[in-house]
Amino acid sequence: MIKVEKIYLNGAWVRPHGSERAALENPATRVHFASVPLCDETDALAAVEGAAKAFLQWSRTPFAERIERMERMLTVFESMHDEIVKLEAKELGAPVFFSRYAHCQRQFERIRAFIDAAREFKCCERFRASTVLREPIGVVAAITPWNYPIGQIVQKVVPAVLMGNTVVLKPSTNTPLTALLLLQAFEKVGFPAGVVNLLIGRGSELGRILCTHPKVAMVSFTGSTDVGRDIARLASHSVKRLALELGGKSPYIWLKSRDYRAAVPKLVSSIFYNSGQTCTALSRLIVPEEDLADIEALLKEEVAKLKVGDPMDPDTHLGPVASRSQFETVKSYIELGIREGARLVCGGVPEAPQKGYFIAPTVFSDVKNTMRIAREEIFGPVLCVIPYRTVDEAVEIANDSDYGLSAAVYGENREACLEVAARLESGGVYINGAHRDDTAPFGGCKQSGYGREGGREGLLEFTQAKTIYDN
Ligand code: NAD
Repeated sequence: MIKVEKIYLNGAWVRPHGSERAALENPATRVHFASVPLCDETDALAAVEGAAKAFLQWSRTPFAERIERMERMLTVFESMHDEIVKLEAKELGAPVFFSRYAHCQRQFERIRAFIDAAREFKCCERFRASTVLREPIGVVAAITPWNYPIGQIVQKVVPAVLMGNTVVLKPSTNTPLTALLLLQAFEKVGFPAGVVNLLIGRGSELGRILCTHPKVAMVSFTGSTDVGRDIARLASHSVKRLALELGGKSPYIWLKSRDYRAAVPKLVSSIFYNSGQTCTALSRLIVPEEDLADIEALLKEEVAKLKVGDPMDPDTHLGPVASRSQFETVKSYIELGIREGARLVCGGVPEAPQKGYFIAPTVFSDVKNTMRIAREEIFGPVLCVIPYRTVDEAVEIANDSDYGLSAAVYGENREACLEVAARLESGGVYINGAHRDDTAPFGGCKQSGYGREGGREGLLEFTQAKTIYDN
């Protein structure tokens, strides 16, 4: 049993003022394996005060020194690889095969990309008759979800700190353990007290303080669209800078092709790995109606290759979903899909959880884009296959969504894919299985939010421009 007693405030591991605790359940076994303290208002106020005090010094620390410290932090964090994999298996149910890459290696690469971008970043730029300084904003409240516990955190904390801001981090209460590791790495390389602070606790309680406190200058939030709306409302009173990375219902258009096999790996990794709990999951597969039967057969064959089970087994592709509430939500959407008249190709309603919250990869076909399963974010291993007759119709279906986080196009003719990509309402479009580029901006449009993460633009996000007119 892991018993966490302390949080990281103002450069020290301290017992929080809050006296409540939360038990963490391993979703693969339903056994409580850890307990963590829950912070209260007093802790949140102390964190903001500490970060505000630290900002005075940290914002004036030379950029090169900030980069050099982050470089050392990365080295320490990389040495925690095995521990991160073990903890993600327990707190999230993430299979080791996926975790080694997605929750570790990818995140180290992301930090590296920020450091590289920082080395190239110009904090001072000359314009025609003025000089523009890119200055830090102040105290940043970083509020993150549970689905990629480390991934969501590094995309906020690393660029914010590099650019001279100080941070109060509030990770999801479901998955706070790897965040503690990250904070240990910051501590080990001697970041000054108050530059990074960690609160564990309820979003509704701590979020209210972080989003309204006059000394918080920016809120960077990743999570659901509903909570994003609340946060925007709260933060508007003191006109805080906001970055909102919210939900998605991303389309994947398959253009008429002789063979669709090459399009499958991107689909499988996106909608099934991490048990479908990925904001950019390509959850709506839009395919030529005339090939629907062949595509269904292909999907059935590919899904049969996926092993669902113990996250610690190196052969497992999908672990459980992250929690009981997630299990109940996904189950109710599968039931809804059946009621709405979509046709099950594979998977189906999961049985009541015995050992863990496992859900088989589920594919619905003949889905209409008006059905709720095609419009609402399910956040589980559930794919909706939607047939189309013309490319114009495919684009119309793809864009007929409240969300605009991600999209993908597959086709034998690259130019045709690029033409479709240009017409999609989305923060990003992947062509023919391309991978995400950590040097490029990432983010959404429509109700998927605003703000950009990653690389140079992700650094800019945590700065404000000051123009010195000196003509
Ligand atoms: P959530 O919105 O329930 O919670 C996210 C964070 O907000 C948690 O730390 C939570 O404690 C906190 N929170 C909850 N209520 C709050 C409130 N009233 N005020 C302030 N903070 C509050 O989301 P989740 O279930 O943890 O994560 C899943 C969601 O995150 C999905 O919708 C997914 O699409 C989205 N997501 C988006 C991206 C992206 O980059 N766009 C990435 C990952 C996840």
